[in-house]
Amino acid sequence: MILLKNATVVNAGGMQQTDVLTDGEIITRIAPNIECFGAEVIDCDGKLVFPGFIDMHCHLREPGQTHKEDIRSGSLAALAGGYTTVCCMPNTDPPIDNGGAVAYIRKRSAECGNADVLPVGCITRGQKGEELAEFGHMKAQGAIAVSDDGLPVDSGAVMLNALKYAKTFGLTLLSHSEDKSISGNGVVNAGENATASGLRGIPKAAESAAVARDVLLAEEAGARLHVCHVSTAESVDIIRQAKKRGVKVTCETCPHYFAATDDEILSYNTNAKINPPLRGERDVDAIVQGIADGTIDVIATDHAPHHFDEKNKEFDYAPFGTVGLETAFSVAYTRLVLTETIKLSDLCRLMSAAPASILGLTDRGRIEVGARADMVIVDPDDEYTVDTAYFKSKGKNSLFDGWRLNGSVVGVIVKGEKKQI
Ligand SMILES: [Zn+2]
Repeated sequence: MILLKNATVVNAGGMQQTDVLTDGEIITRIAPNIECFGAEVIDCDGKLVFPGFIDMHCHLREPGQTHKEDIRSGSLAALAGGYTTVCCMPNTDPPIDNGGAVAYIRKRSAECGNADVLPVGCITRGQKGEELAEFGHMKAQGAIAVSDDGLPVDSGAVMLNALKYAKTFGLTLLSHSEDKSISGNGVVNAGENATASGLRGIPKAAESAAVARDVLLAEEAGARLHVCHVSTAESVDIIRQAKKRGVKVTCETCPHYFAATDDEILSYNTNAKINPPLRGERDVDAIVQGIADGTIDVIATDHAPHHFDEKNKEFDYAPFGTVGLETAFSVAYTRLVLTETIKLSDLCRLMSAAPASILGLTDRGRIEVGARADMVIVDPDDEYTVDTAYFKSKGKNSLFDGWRLNGSVVGVIVKGEKKQI
């Protein structure tokens, strides 16, 4: 039993000053001045308590690339960032495209006992974009959603079938929307900074045109679609219009798309090489607006760890991606809440409640009697400088290294158990 005293509890619906008691794996009581003999008391005076954050989109690299990250290090990094549930993408080696591979991830997650790791299964066998993977078998073994993330599903016909198939199995389809014939071998956002740096550009339409296609296919299929890592003004607008006419589309963005512009590439910092690429100021403004008006449902990390040697290359040859699990909350809190763009309850919706609802995780995403006792305690007054040397992740490739941020995670409870962070 754990008793949180004097907590400022933040739910998507609002905030309250209260005590929270857990017993076993669930929250059993929420009221002021709870006394409970035998419970471990945590004084939360001056702290915020959120439902544990849920990351719909991260790369934990197991199996096959465990020099970059593995389930243990990734789930520890998740805890350090306040995440109690994370969904790992299936672009591993081999890809997670069958029930056996899904079961392996669930088993590893249980063995590690850190954040709950929920596997996302492939849309297509081997992520080849041709034949659909066995959605039913993967779901039976614990797949929470399907995605070919890292790669788009090039064929519209395959994508349409995948959306219908996902609907039949009640699985959410997470789309990496990219037209590879447009992005080609580009490495940064096409625009002034690409020209100035002499790096090959990726036109924004590589994302926006693919988002438009996927939205129309979901509309045709009457299926639900979740668009990953939205980064352009046009994508936000397409999704905003689609929602208005009743298409069942949701989407996510990542901290790097609202907190940074493609100015970051001018120093040839390979940690700023991300796909989709960091964009210009107009797009960053549109992402922030999309978050503020609710068009963007979720903040996910797209945590993409790489080994130092892999990123320590010429810009053209370094892999895409930044780590994000250990900085997402602070970046969002600093750049969105402290700037009064959104409220704390909105942040809870973006990082806990909405991911839970989109994924059908009915037992979490809120602090309520009967809900899973997954909670994160945050010190809103802490201010610190990001230092990747202290990261739990094997990946030190953080765009945010050296940034000054506010708000830090000071405690995490998973299924009623206090974790070391
Ligand atoms: Zn992706």
